[in-house]
Amino acid sequence: MNYSNCIFCQREQIQFVLENDLAGAFWDRSPVSTGHLLIIPKTHRDNYFALTTPELVAVNNLIHEAKALLDHDFQPDGYNIGVNIHEAAGQTVMHAHIHVIPRYLGDDAHP
Ligand code: 5GP
Ligand code: ZN
Repeated sequence: MNYSNCIFCQREQIQFVLENDLAGAFWDRSPVSTGHLLIIPKTHRDNYFALTTPELVAVNNLIHEAKALLDHDFQPDGYNIGVNIHEAAGQTVMHAHIHVIPRYLGDDAHP
């Protein structure tokens, strides 16, 4: 189920740059580095631990596709991949999302 009060369920304002049946990837609106992507399940899940096993596979496939896209477009020197779960850990959007953050030697990104 998708929720009208969830910004990541409002597909008209989210443009997927990569997608498969169960997940999509889009640019973070406030990137901590050039190429910061978010990967979400298409179905609303409150946080990472609520994903189904097929969704975990779909998300993981997109992480690898995101790496290929970012390697090609930006040639980063490394990556941070991270998930915040619950407010105490910094989750601000309550639709599960995985951060894929390219890193560049000497950058001052703070994931
Ligand atoms: P969190 O702190 O929940 O792990 O990360 C939420 C992320 O979502 C932040 O990096 C923030 O910049 C991004 N974000 C929040 N609202 C929007 C939005 O409407 N569009 C996009 N593209 N990113 C968003
Ligand atoms: Zn949602």
